[in-house]
Amino acid sequence: MPFTHDSLAQRVILGSGQASAALAAEIERLGGRRVMVIAGEHEAALADQVVADQSVELRWGEVRQHVPLELAQRARAAATEAGIDLVVSVGGGSTTGLAKAVAMEVDVTIIAVPTTYAGSEATNVWGLTEDGTKTTGADPRVLPTTVIYDAGLTTSLPVDLTVASGLNGLAHCVDSLWAPRADPINLAMALEGARALALGLPAVVADPQDLVGREQCLYGAYLSAVAFASAGSGMHHKICHVLGGAYDLPHAPTHAVVLPYVLAHNAAAVPTEAGRLALALGATPTQVEADPAQAAVDALEELRVALDAPRRLAEVGLAEGDLPDAVQRSLPKIPESNPVPVTEASLTGLLRSAWAGDKPTLHRHP
Ligand code: NAD
Repeated sequence: MPFTHDSLAQRVILGSGQASAALAAEIERLGGRRVMVIAGEHEAALADQVVADQSVELRWGEVRQHVPLELAQRARAAATEAGIDLVVSVGGGSTTGLAKAVAMEVDVTIIAVPTTYAGSEATNVWGLTEDGTKTTGADPRVLPTTVIYDAGLTTSLPVDLTVASGLNGLAHCVDSLWAPRADPINLAMALEGARALALGLPAVVADPQDLVGREQCLYGAYLSAVAFASAGSGMHHKICHVLGGAYDLPHAPTHAVVLPYVLAHNAAAVPTEAGRLALALGATPTQVEADPAQAAVDALEELRVALDAPRRLAEVGLAEGDLPDAVQRSLPKIPESNPVPVTEASLTGLLRSAWAGDKPTLHRHP
């Protein structure tokens, strides 16, 4: 039980249909005078709606995944030239990421209005890509001061992206079970986040306009990211980081595919946490009592099938010939905190199964 836990200070507002009013109140509260709005191509109409009543100094519409450094530098220069003191980001993790890249170098406050379940808004982690290599780091300046969640802004997110993004959130929860700074506080958030996502995602797949289900997903995504920011990157995130950076695979679908295999790799070594995760994902107490690790793997698999989530790395763009290279790149990155040793053979097996889409099988550890 002994722990040292840091909590990040941030105001979080959730209210469907409330984003515009909440934004006006927050800009007033924070004393923002010269506002920059960042929203990508598919998010521009949502941003128009949210900032309609604001005086906006600068609109920025160019957003790319993994934040190329050259793009960040142009956005920073534009913000500096326009004397911006407050940035409003309306969009997914890529858009939030660009706002963070601006805040690294320009003295601005960020208000994040997320429209996916990536969770970047709740972390102090930035990412930048240069010459195909993605670098990440933590910096208190990039943490949004306020997050405004409005489920009405997420109903336009296509169902396949909703599922992949929601499972990206769930991956934050699962990886928090064994990440380097895992503690009882971030475990509690991770488990409640998993419960909310497992409740919300099937409701949204059944009816993409269901605001109650979308609110559950946003709530779960927020908790998942708070847990992740606190616990740090575990085995799952290290693998996905390599796959995204080296082969330019899409972020959320890659997480959705890899997660069940990492859980199957680690669950038997953390039976208590696995049992609690299984319950959060909807397993029965009898199933958990019989075999907590198997119950967790089965519950995730059931959810994955119900959501028709992406299954194979082959389908998200990884070539079979890249598997040995992916193993070599990932192996040195696996944190020492991982509850079981990861070997070249076990990682090869994991990635090959994820590439082919085999049914995840629980690893029993001696
Ligand atoms: P994304 O931001 O790239 O969005 C995916 C697509 O969905 C984009 O085309 C976007 O315009 C569109 N979109 C977003 N919201 C929409 C909506 N409501 N309706 C219709 N279309 C919409 O993808 P993402 O998965 O949200 O974010 C991925 C990025 O976030 C990656 O670069 C990842 O590394 C980063 N990320 C960072 C952290 C962190 O803590 N720093 C955490 C999670 C993710």
